Amino acid sequence: MASSLTGVGVSPGVGYGPAVAVIDAVPEPPDLPATGSAEQESEAAAAALEAVATDLEARAVKAGGEAQEVLEAQAMMARDPSLATQIAGKCEAGSTAARATYEALGAYADMLAASGSDYLAGRVADLHDIRARTVARLLGVPEPGIPDLSEPSVLVARDLAPADTALLNKDLVTAFVTAEGGPTSHTSILARNYGIPAVVGCPGATDVEPGTLLLVDGANGTVELNPAEVHVSAALAKDAKRRAALAGSGTGPGRTADGHAVALLANIGGPEDVDAAVAAGAEGVGLFRTELSFLDRADAPSETEQVAIYSAVMAGFEGKKVVVRTLDAGADKPLPFMPFGEEPNPAMGVRGLRICMQAPEILATQLAALRTSAASTGAELWVMAPMVADMAEAAWFRSQCHRAGLAGPIGVMVEIPAAALRAKQLGTVADFFSIGSNDLTQYTFAADRQVGAVARLQEAWQPALLDLIALTAEGAAANDTPCGVCGEAAADPLLACVLVGLGVTSLSMSPGAIAGVRSALAAHSLDQCQAAAEAAREAVSAAAAREAARTYLSEMDALGL
Ligand code: PEP
Ligand code: MG
Repeated sequence: MASSLTGVGVSPGVGYGPAVAVIDAVPEPPDLPATGSAEQESEAAAAALEAVATDLEARAVKAGGEAQEVLEAQAMMARDPSLATQIAGKCEAGSTAARATYEALGAYADMLAASGSDYLAGRVADLHDIRARTVARLLGVPEPGIPDLSEPSVLVARDLAPADTALLNKDLVTAFVTAEGGPTSHTSILARNYGIPAVVGCPGATDVEPGTLLLVDGANGTVELNPAEVHVSAALAKDAKRRAALAGSGTGPGRTADGHAVALLANIGGPEDVDAAVAAGAEGVGLFRTELSFLDRADAPSETEQVAIYSAVMAGFEGKKVVVRTLDAGADKPLPFMPFGEEPNPAMGVRGLRICMQAPEILATQLAALRTSAASTGAELWVMAPMVADMAEAAWFRSQCHRAGLAGPIGVMVEIPAAALRAKQLGTVADFFSIGSNDLTQYTFAADRQVGAVARLQEAWQPALLDLIALTAEGAAANDTPCGVCGEAAADPLLACVLVGLGVTSLSMSPGAIAGVRSALAAHSLDQCQAAAEAAREAVSAAAAREAARTYLSEMDALGL
């Protein structure tokens, strides 16, 4: 076994302890003819699924908070009528209850995994968990899960199911390491939520012998096996410093050491994220990804349904800014009710605002719901369009917002190089910009966000990307237009300082990242940020840009960031 493993760091921090393996293997039921009638077999399967759903609901109540919603959603999946129909069909064809359940849930999981959507692929672990629990009941073997922990330990698993993570003894789990999963899988979401360091997508994780001592770095994505003691104490001491700095960063508004204000806002996906954003001291919402509430919808949500969701979000931010992005469907986030044709390259096709231009009634319903929600909650509504390419699109969006009677600022996301290059002109038809650095990187480097093989090019530190951000900020300043960043770049404390130095006026990120960015800004002056930005732009590579910036942002080491 290698002395270290590498995966994707999804929840920062350092964790140390013996590896404890999570049991996820339930034997595959043999494909033998059923002994009972088709009716008896499908009834047995239905009863087992119902028992699993009931158990998940009981765990949901016990867990509370965000975990409760996750587990309730999983219970709903177990009760999906189309799943029962699939199982009944297999029992009709002669399968046992266990085999029919195993195959039907496997096919469902494969379909989501192949959907090309990060979000739907993230639900695959939920389905595997339902399958293992149901099959275990039908076969009369122990259900999978986390063994009882007796000391601080690192959990190692193929993937962790929400049902496991929700109820675990968080005081005894120092880190998670999973072989599968990505940044949007539930393991990652819950790990960040609990503040537990986590590395996912880590090949070799399941081969680690239980009891092996592991040192996990949830920022770098590294896992050291049986590390030297001196190395462990240095890593833990550095992390303790980082945690202390974050705890002492307060919850006040973002500003540099010399008082230059930079609003720190939250990226959210729905009402379930509001509490975390408020607790982190977010000055408002900088990106509400509205499409995330509707990914599993076959029909377009009604205006009333949308009002319920938007109002629940806005109610948490009375008197504060809530930047709502209108539906950003297509590519990795297909919405079943939106008109999509087959395209050879969906990331470059009809997606984002382009879809709404083809189906303006969907946008009109959303804008009407937003207007009603803002009026009833007192939040300051800012609306923006995703994936705007040129002035004609920005002007079209603006006219639709005016037609819907929206009175607040109407902005555009800068995610396409063409928009960044023409920011000065675009600023005449937009009240604000929000730079989507994830897509702007993808399109600048012709490097698909979902393809690991081109990950080197998806780095927001690339000097070419920094040039485009600088150009956007300059174009914004020429029109006195606020210019934020809401892509992942804003969540990196070092890069956040560089963005401010480039002229960005607000930063929006997942709530868990706010404290780190607040501390980094508070420790450096605007001059330092500007010098770091200049040096980063002059560098010849992403790595060199990061290194150059760090020399000007001298307090980062002291902060442990
Ligand atoms: C972005 O592209 O940077 C962005 C914030 O939008 P999303 O990640 O939802 O595409
Ligand atoms: Mg985007």
